[in-house]
Amino acid sequence: MISDKLNRPIHDLRISIIDRCNFRCPYCMPEGRHSFLKEDTRLNFDEIVRLATLFVKLGVKKLRLTGGEPLLRPNIENLVSRLAQLSGPNDLALTTNGSLLTEKAVSLKRAGLQRITVSLDALEPEIFKTMSGDKGNVLGVLNGIKAAEEAGFFSVKINVVVKKGINDRQILDIVEYFRGTQHVVRFIEYMDVGTCNHWQLEEVLASKDIIRMIDARYPLQAQVANYRGEVSSRYAFEDGKGEVGFISSITQPFCGDCSRARLSTDGKLFTCLFAKDGVDLKIPIRSGASDNEILDLITKTWSARTDRYSEERASFIKSQTHTQKIEMFQIGG
Ligand code: SAM
Ligand code: SF4
Ligand code: SF4
Repeated sequence: MISDKLNRPIHDLRISIIDRCNFRCPYCMPEGRHSFLKEDTRLNFDEIVRLATLFVKLGVKKLRLTGGEPLLRPNIENLVSRLAQLSGPNDLALTTNGSLLTEKAVSLKRAGLQRITVSLDALEPEIFKTMSGDKGNVLGVLNGIKAAEEAGFFSVKINVVVKKGINDRQILDIVEYFRGTQHVVRFIEYMDVGTCNHWQLEEVLASKDIIRMIDARYPLQAQVANYRGEVSSRYAFEDGKGEVGFISSITQPFCGDCSRARLSTDGKLFTCLFAKDGVDLKIPIRSGASDNEILDLITKTWSARTDRYSEERASFIKSQTHTQKIEMFQIGG
């Protein structure tokens, strides 16, 4: 087990397996010019499995595949089945925009995927289109969630990024749609990841306002965290019809417990979602480094970690420093 300078262990590894996407959500990858990686600059499956194995040796218990849109990576099931065979992690999950889930849910389940998170920012087709950059089809995503349910993913997490004035009037509709089902909706404060989204504080709706809105219709009760480092604050409906979560990186930063490492599609280790750059693991791998050498590099990087961007955000914004940040679609959410 390794810990960083703030005594935070390394517990989760998020692996971005592709930087491309079939959506253009304005808060992540707005329509425009983006340069994407060529196939041979992405980590291949052997390299991903090797690195995941080494991270597990250092204490990682949870693996999550993300992107870009991970279901666009050809033969993802093959990668899932290899990761599912690793002994050590107790969780293998995937975050997806859900657009390809009707085709993929059964094969992913068979391959050994344990959990799925689907992003869904609106139910109203026009608002959904706006939130997905005119690319997405809400019915396709809702069918994808059904397909996941039928394939045996008992409880799907539904991620909703809230942009003030754009999809906030969908909050209660989304709550109503999933209330009483086994699925759990999590509302995410719009974050200043990357730079291409031109984030403005005025576009953020604070979780406390969302909680107030939901509580007025369906009374809520705060729950205790399931484990140290849980990013979502959980609230149960008082009438027993399930729960909702809130991820409040802007108004209630949770850096103190952040134990997530991120591996970018091109094999860099990022120790924070808001980092400028990461430590290249692909170059050593491709130049024949031994497992021990790579373990050393990861250990050194994590042990030197001091990141707490969200807790320092206000001063960075005021001083206009830390203006270079990796894009979300390059390292995954
Ligand atoms: N394409 C997949 C998807 O959308 O679920 C996986 C990758 S996406 C980058 C992972 C998560 O990050 C999604 O739930 C997305 O809504 C969230 N996300 C992207 N940009 C964000 C932002 N600026 N603020 C908050 N969440 C964001
Ligand atoms: Fe694509 Fe996901 Fe980013 Fe939307 S949030 S553009 S679906 S990677
Ligand atoms: Fe973790 Fe960085 Fe987010 Fe803080 S800002 S919670 S250190 S990823």
